Amino acid sequence: MEYVSTRDKSRKVSAAYAIANGIAPDGGLYCPTEFPTLTAEDWHALANLDYKGRSARILGKFLTDFSGEELAQYAAKAYADEKFGGKDTAPVVSLGEGKHMLELWHGPTCAFKDMALQMLPHLLTASLRKTGETRTACILVATSGDTGKAALDGFHDVEGTKIMVYYPVDGVSPMQKLQMVTQEGANVEVVAIHGNFDDAQSAVKRIFTDEETRAKLDRDGMMLSSANSINWGRLAPQIAYYVSAYCDMVKSGAVKMGEKINICVPTGNFGNILAAYIAGRMGLPVNKFICASNRNNVLTDFFKKDGVYDKNRAFYTTTSPSMDILISSNLERLLFFASDFDDKLVGDLMQRLTKDGKYQAPASVFETIAADFDAGCCDDEQAAQTIRALWENEHYLCDTHTAVAVRVYEDYRARTGDQTPTVIASTASPFKFCRSVIEALGGTLEKDDVTQLDVLTKLTGVPAPAPLAALAGKQPRFDRVVDKSEILQTVELLKDL
Ligand SMILES: *Cc1c(COP(=O)(O)O)cnc(C)c1O
Repeated sequence: MEYVSTRDKSRKVSAAYAIANGIAPDGGLYCPTEFPTLTAEDWHALANLDYKGRSARILGKFLTDFSGEELAQYAAKAYADEKFGGKDTAPVVSLGEGKHMLELWHGPTCAFKDMALQMLPHLLTASLRKTGETRTACILVATSGDTGKAALDGFHDVEGTKIMVYYPVDGVSPMQKLQMVTQEGANVEVVAIHGNFDDAQSAVKRIFTDEETRAKLDRDGMMLSSANSINWGRLAPQIAYYVSAYCDMVKSGAVKMGEKINICVPTGNFGNILAAYIAGRMGLPVNKFICASNRNNVLTDFFKKDGVYDKNRAFYTTTSPSMDILISSNLERLLFFASDFDDKLVGDLMQRLTKDGKYQAPASVFETIAADFDAGCCDDEQAAQTIRALWENEHYLCDTHTAVAVRVYEDYRARTGDQTPTVIASTASPFKFCRSVIEALGGTLEKDDVTQLDVLTKLTGVPAPAPLAALAGKQPRFDRVVDKSEILQTVELLKDL
């Protein structure tokens, strides 16, 4: 399988090259040039495999320069029982009214990012080897909260790598911040920036395309790579859990083999829902992909307003911070796929996005997209009501991000009458966003309790995940705060790690 940039498909690279380098030199995102299909034989095999086996089999379809044994080995390590609480790696919990919660947060940092970021270090170090790269890979991460910790956990003390995480100083939850600043490991650095997630993401993209910075790092034996969902190695592992969920639903009798499902995803950078879409292009039977946004509803408008993407709008800080994003990077990949791999078009649109903060997808491309996608959004108040209703009516505790998806799905179902069984991506443990969840349930926060874990447990009887409980005694290691204009200089810090 070959990979090309969304903005220039003339130069073909291997999966290993795409993963090692993260982003294409033209600023585009690496994509496969075709979609592998799931055959009857695949489905039969997948049904009888555990999550590790399913992951390796799906990855093998895309990463053809990796052997089956290699991928099986990585999957066994990435999704080891001791890392995922010994439970099903990505269980489906079926609730009322067609809701099937795909819980993606049983990993070490309690958010769905672990599903990819426990795998990425294995893929990346192997990719460096396969491409003959001898320099140290410096992974730059812009985070709205969850990616940062998941990437730190995945990469700390991984040989041949260094990792630097940038987070918006006022844009993450106290728990997310605590998780990041207490990270152990000799090869890690965490920097807070004055600015929002988009500022961090744009700055990191700028570092990637800054020739001078790259040359300087090169002289010091370092190269840049990315652990954000712009990296194909981050996206590819996410495809497997949608296929896995379907296998589990067939097994439990929730759907019959071949029957269509909907997939509803709380969306920020558009990576997770794009992985679902790719699973669909491989043959997973999907009726609608439902894109759920919070008050930062630039994507809802894109889907509702004939493909006009316009980031010129107010940015809101919400109770679902991992979705507080105005530039959803992976939409670029959807445009590439839906336009039948039209690199000129995508390059054009992205240039317009940089210049005017806005573009309109051509009608033919948007029609293709609109046939597959639906979208909706809700505000913090509606998300809180949803958390409370789910708990009171179904005794199911969910976090603020997942609540946005549940609410948007309920609205979709009421609006369309569509009764198709729906997989809702549950993207974080409710304990990761304790304060908002406690408030939604009508509980009272305890003044001196940073994490509030005990408060939520007392309120619900649900125990906190062990990795979050373990944060209590940890000392912060990082307290650097810089202006967004100074991000380029912080690259210097990599030398000393
Ligand atoms: C990252 C994140 C999202 C958004 O996922 P994207 O792939 O960026 O669309 C949603 N919920 C949680 C909890 C997250 O951490």
